[in-house]
Amino acid sequence: MDTIFLNDIEALRAIIEESPMPIGLFAGREMRIKVANKAIQQAWGKDESVIGKTFHDAIPELNDQPFDKLLDDVYSTGIAYHATEDRVDIIVNGRLQIFYFNFTYKPLKDKEGNVWGVLNTATDVTELVVARKQREEAEERLRMAIESAELGTWAIDATTHETFPSDRTKELFGLNCDEEMGLDTSLSLIDEKYRDYVATTIETAFEKGGSYDLEYPIHDAKTQRERWVRTTGKLYTDENGKPLNFSGIIMDITERKHNDMRKNDFIAMVSHELKTPLTSIKSYIQLLINKIPKGNDEFLNSALVKADRQIVKMTKMIHGFLDMSKLESGKITLSREEFNLCDLLNEIVADVRFYTYTHFFEIYRQDNAIVYADRNKIGQVIDNFLSNAIKYSPRETVIDINCIVIDSNVQISVADKGIGVKPKDQAKVFDKFYRVDNDIIKTVAGFGIGLYLAGEIIHLHNGKIWVESEECEGATFYFSIPLA
Ligand code: ADP
Repeated sequence: MDTIFLNDIEALRAIIEESPMPIGLFAGREMRIKVANKAIQQAWGKDESVIGKTFHDAIPELNDQPFDKLLDDVYSTGIAYHATEDRVDIIVNGRLQIFYFNFTYKPLKDKEGNVWGVLNTATDVTELVVARKQREEAEERLRMAIESAELGTWAIDATTHETFPSDRTKELFGLNCDEEMGLDTSLSLIDEKYRDYVATTIETAFEKGGSYDLEYPIHDAKTQRERWVRTTGKLYTDENGKPLNFSGIIMDITERKHNDMRKNDFIAMVSHELKTPLTSIKSYIQLLINKIPKGNDEFLNSALVKADRQIVKMTKMIHGFLDMSKLESGKITLSREEFNLCDLLNEIVADVRFYTYTHFFEIYRQDNAIVYADRNKIGQVIDNFLSNAIKYSPRETVIDINCIVIDSNVQISVADKGIGVKPKDQAKVFDKFYRVDNDIIKTVAGFGIGLYLAGEIIHLHNGKIWVESEECEGATFYFSIPLA
């Protein structure tokens, strides 16, 4: 179709003009525009006034771009030129804009093989190219961020289970970039105590979807040195929900973990050392309370009772710290027994009533609920709910308590009429050391570990813990654990 005669133009004109594809036909070395359909006029940002002009004059903004030369080369050599995603800067709507075109300059020859013109077809691929460039730039930015944060990335194919770790991921496991690292290799380098747990978590996430966030020690493949890592992973699916791959990031948290451990050891040591003198102070105070005849010295009596109450508070705090450090080092264990949770609740409320004159405690529902749980630790959770209700609600208000059996679980709730917890803080109050940032909380003593411990204890019992609240309208804290 290279041989088109000059007098064929009229026949071609109709076809070109009807074509939805941008086409132009230029004649002579000067590239005079003989035909240019609406689509190419639009692509050039021009109108039919271009017809009859030379290409050079019709689109002057292209003069310092390579197109005049390309056309001339096609004319001289008789060889077609094909461009893929070439950048073309054209004035459209009065503004010089960047476009990308796939276009062809095809030489038109007479029957002697002499070139007499050029046929120009073009496809505007600007949207496609811009979208791809944006995606590539975003990927590059992400890659740079990942690299500068020294994060490793990995992906596991959902069907083949083939693993694709990044070089940094391999480095964290002590492997060279050219060494193979499948799922089995990485699992074998995870500390023995955590291996099954990590494998099961990955399997569950694979089967049920969702994401995971784990911290565990690994051993360097070459030096066996321990390194703590945090990995997060998520299952990605196609639009029909079919699993595609499981991927995520991995980071070195050794330094933070060692700092945590040192802090933890320090807290454990101090708390342990404080326990002994506190126990002896408490027994001396008890002794004094018993020694002073009743009604003899009102002031001394009440001062000793108050001191005793403060010692109880301090002992609870110290036990909280010890529990926290045990929990962190994985040393917390449950000593389970069967008991009636409702009886425990009544015992604790009676105790709290004995010490607290500031609030009224009402137990509404008291369902019998036999559970197989750690009585002391569940007691600690109830105690924490009650002491928080007292701390964070005004004097002379009522604290409502319930013990309700729902299906195969028992739910305990403690509702106060205090400052409440904003929705944005409701999940965070169960985090370690989290205290809501407001002026009232600052005036109330606390370390933000009570609810953290409560959460961990309830999770160890396969239960749930949560809060429902409106700011300034009071808060209701709940936990539920399975019945025996
Ligand atoms: P602490 O009371 O020692 O700060 P907790 O872990 O028991 O530690 O509670 C964490 C935070 O949750 C508290 O600092 C407080 O901001 C919020 N909180 C807990 N209980 C209540 C409550 N009943 N009403 C309002 N805020 C509460």
